Amino acid sequence: MSEYLFANIIIDISHEKVDRPFQYIIPQNLIGVVKEGDCVEVPFGKGNSLREGFVIEITQKNEYPVERLKYLKGLSEGKLGVEADAVRLASWMKKTYGSTMIAALKTVLPVKKVVKSKEIKTIIRKRTTEEIIFLYAQAVRKKQKAKVRILEELKNEEMLPYDLVVSKLHVSSSTLTSLVKDGTIVIESEKVYRNPVNSSDKPEDQKILSKEQADIVSEITSGMSKNMTDTSENGKYLIHGITGSGKTEVYIKLIEHAIKEGRQCIMLIPEIALTYQTLMRFYKRFGDRVSVMNSTLSAGEKYDQCMRAYNGDIDVIIGPRSALFVPFRKLGLVIIDEEHESSYISENNPRYHARQTAEELCRIKGATLVLGSATPSIETYFLAKNGYYKLFQMTKRLTGNQLAKTSIVDLREELKNGNRSVLSLKLKEAIADRLNKKEQIMLFLNRRGYSGFVSCRACGHVMKCNHCDVSLSRHRGGKLICHYCGYQTQDVKICPECGSKYISGFKAGTQQIEDELKKIYPEIRVLRMDADTTGTKDSYENILSSFAEGEADVLVGTQMIVKGHDFPNVTLVGILAADLSLNDSDFRTAERTFQLLTQAIGRAGRGEKEGEAIIQTYRPDHYSIIHSAHQDYEGFYKEEIAYRMLGDYPPAGAMMHIRVQSAAEMRAESLAKALAKRVVGKVRVIGPAPDTVSKVKDMFRFNLYLKGEDIKDIEMSRNKMEEYLETAPIITETVSFDLY
Ligand code: ADP
Ligand code: ZN
Ligand code: ZN
Repeated sequence: MSEYLFANIIIDISHEKVDRPFQYIIPQNLIGVVKEGDCVEVPFGKGNSLREGFVIEITQKNEYPVERLKYLKGLSEGKLGVEADAVRLASWMKKTYGSTMIAALKTVLPVKKVVKSKEIKTIIRKRTTEEIIFLYAQAVRKKQKAKVRILEELKNEEMLPYDLVVSKLHVSSSTLTSLVKDGTIVIESEKVYRNPVNSSDKPEDQKILSKEQADIVSEITSGMSKNMTDTSENGKYLIHGITGSGKTEVYIKLIEHAIKEGRQCIMLIPEIALTYQTLMRFYKRFGDRVSVMNSTLSAGEKYDQCMRAYNGDIDVIIGPRSALFVPFRKLGLVIIDEEHESSYISENNPRYHARQTAEELCRIKGATLVLGSATPSIETYFLAKNGYYKLFQMTKRLTGNQLAKTSIVDLREELKNGNRSVLSLKLKEAIADRLNKKEQIMLFLNRRGYSGFVSCRACGHVMKCNHCDVSLSRHRGGKLICHYCGYQTQDVKICPECGSKYISGFKAGTQQIEDELKKIYPEIRVLRMDADTTGTKDSYENILSSFAEGEADVLVGTQMIVKGHDFPNVTLVGILAADLSLNDSDFRTAERTFQLLTQAIGRAGRGEKEGEAIIQTYRPDHYSIIHSAHQDYEGFYKEEIAYRMLGDYPPAGAMMHIRVQSAAEMRAESLAKALAKRVVGKVRVIGPAPDTVSKVKDMFRFNLYLKGEDIKDIEMSRNKMEEYLETAPIITETVSFDLY
């Protein structure tokens, strides 16, 4: 250790160069002044010409003898641009999520991969509407499905973005070529799909806003305009609005406003909800000024989009969480739709949360943040109630029907009445009725929490930990284990609550449901969607479009089926075992259950016809189930926040999840125990205990939870643990830190 302090500096900031920082000595008078993330001037190369660079780390460790190091010159005013913002954001991520600066920088900087700039192609209709309708009817008769899909769109649109038609409508290029050959369309390259923002020739697309919508738009836009002159006060808003209440229309108006003021926008939508219909609405308004980022793009294509944003060729980017890092020069607005979605949390290091990161990005850029959801996360709603976000409520559906008529079926009663099928009597009758009427049905198996928990089919009793109020999991060798605290007990043969022998691990997959349906209705056409049937990205979209085209009567699936897509002919949604997700060993189970059920119910009756939802459950009196049946978010929130307050769970307190993995079980456990000893401040440690999934790919997993009133204590504890890890004897062990 020396008495010097050193700064590691990146001279040329790009994804590839961050691994090669240069080290400089910080002069005495700048110690404490120069901080991580600062832009500084340093002498560089043989001639010692001054260059600008970014400090990514300050350390006491020198990599070369001090005599060979140069002194940093001073802080620099320059480069206060996109790069500096990215470095600041990375520095914040490092501090918040406990990653290395290099990993954080790699997350926020685009990967440089030179590709031939992708042509923007547009499909242009060359026939009259009457001719298209004729060709459409012909394609329907010939059962040419892809042709039907594109001709259907061409009935109403004279231009379509080529990319969207291929990727979201699943029309192959050979189908398009045949349409070109017969003179139905032409495909043009480059900038024909002009920005229609200011020159809408289609007045029917310009909806007159409802009063609810207009008020929200006017308040947020006036905040945005004020913010043009004073960027220190950037607005933060939450729009709580049921599906169909017109949120997307509000987003579009806000984006138009930002563009008029010369600023750019990032719009996050979970990948699963990036449907053709939604994207088309944005293309219609913003033409080639909007671009879509999704996981199917190559690194080169993503880089190309980043450069288009950087060069000012686009104003809007739509995409999943990584779209946050598209380098706009004058970012004015970030919108996060479905802000409660778990896909906004990164699984890679740094395990950033898109909502928190967007908030920091908006602070740096002086941009406005708008969150939207039909079922906001409890944390977000709590902050909104406390005035941290300005809260707007949208309560009315603008088109279509009222929300589905919903009823709850008590499965315990079904068993009492001798029905041991997974389908209740009421649901069976409703299915028969829809089959008769040729309407469609969705059966949703709430299986997320499936982890070998043990429940009684007579009374619904679930075997729980004596200390944690979470369900126990059955392990081989006749043991029930709590994955939260490690408590163990013997498996049971008889329900301790009611004495019934129908107590067992819950088993029901989409396959079993399909078999059951076929037994009762031999003619029924069933599509299944779960992790087994959707190995590839395409199969997911294919199943959905087959269902949309009426090729099946029933779609059976796990939570994948409840998001995004609209099927106008679905008039019945059955929710099987609604309480399954309540058995997760996690304080967010009720919230997740409420969100999933609310979304599932919302799938029924999206078209002209009235919808119905039937919730089957062993826990008809659980508040998440009752409130979702009434679509009563506020009621749910009140009970849930009381529970969080009582248990000191977020947002009442701060909480961190630490996962230790190792190829050797003992080593994982002992490292977790060693880490637990490093905790400082007012922090409560829970665990270590094996994870619900105790082994993955031959790596054993142990969990630790830290709870505290003050997040600073938890961050300090994490830092202590990280210090310990630097010296710990590590072979295969890995540790991740997740802040809730
Ligand atoms: P959300 O995003 O909340 O689900 P949308 O913005 O998609 O709601 O609106 C739901 C439906 O209502 C859409 O079909 C949309 O075109 C229509 N819509 C939205 N705003 C208006 C409006 N002001 N006038 C008429 N129709 C509207
Ligand atoms: Zn029982
Ligand atoms: Zn326990």
